[in-house]
Amino acid sequence: MAAKLIKGTEIREKILEEIEAEVAEIKEKHGVVPGLVTILVGENPASISYVTLKIKTAHRVGFHEIQDTQSEDLSEEALLALIDKYNKDDAIHGILVQLPLPKQINEKKVLNAIDPDKDVDGFHPVNVGRLMIGGDEVKFPPCTPAGIQEMIVRAGVETKGAEVVVVGRSNIVGKPIANMMLQKGVGANSTVTVVHTGTKELAGHCQRADILIVAAGVPGLVKPEWIKPGACVIDVGVNRIGEKISEKTGKKIAILSGDVDFDAAKEIAGYITPVPGGVGPMTITMLMKNTLKSVKFRLGIN
Ligand code: NAP
Repeated sequence: MAAKLIKGTEIREKILEEIEAEVAEIKEKHGVVPGLVTILVGENPASISYVTLKIKTAHRVGFHEIQDTQSEDLSEEALLALIDKYNKDDAIHGILVQLPLPKQINEKKVLNAIDPDKDVDGFHPVNVGRLMIGGDEVKFPPCTPAGIQEMIVRAGVETKGAEVVVVGRSNIVGKPIANMMLQKGVGANSTVTVVHTGTKELAGHCQRADILIVAAGVPGLVKPEWIKPGACVIDVGVNRIGEKISEKTGKKIAILSGDVDFDAAKEIAGYITPVPGGVGPMTITMLMKNTLKSVKFRLGIN
């Protein structure tokens, strides 16, 4: 194999250790414990498993964590009132509303009701605007793009002047990572192209990429011949392509695949992320980092 594997599972451990140490220091010096609330409405099994993982990680780094579980028939008005309560609670630095929400609730209205200074997911229009402006304006970069950038930087890949091609233009991955990589600053300063279903010559654009970030949700979309030799390939795609029985638990689990033909791509790329174990573990990690940032902004420390 030619490519160096960028493992999210390993980078996650380092970052969580760093966060844990900072949390302990803040507690000792300022007597403040970062507070994170996760609001879960209903019993969607995937949402329950995401929330459980978020809570476990929050506990691990020493946060004060509140899990607020509400019934499926909660009204929009009641959810907005709950958010208002946490917006006003000084012990809470980060508010997360697990999506999707039941049909009677307007998701946009709910996300927009979160105080932008507690919006650790980075989805509030104010934080999207701050990200676009860049530099000191940025408070909470959205977690998956922030994780992608962190992986590129920690792998030691040069971003300044690099040709970055992003496949996909979603609001949660494609657009924000493209915006982050073009900013003038460390871990960015790249020349960015964004491609999508309206793009002609998809392969040609990808072939120019020093850093290829793929977030399309299409298994095997990126063929090995689309990859420039030595490029850094970040595969964000998580696609369920079948099921198998877990050797550990004996239960049925999903077989996951990325958007890149990994086995062939790893022989050409210089760096590559696996799926699973690549970008996936970084998202919750960056959520913890954003919550820590929120505390530091409040305390006026860097
Ligand atoms: P999305 O909202 O469905 O957006 C997909 C984007 O890819 C769209 O912009 C779409 O173009 C583009 N696209 C789809 N098929 C394409 C094709 N054949 N050629 C060119 N462009 C194509 O998806 P998303 O939310 O960004 O997620 C993308 C993938 O990343 C999914 O597999 C998702 O599960 C995964 N993901 C992983 C994490 C994580 O690991 N933590 C987090 C988020 C997402 P159009 O705009 O033209 O339709």
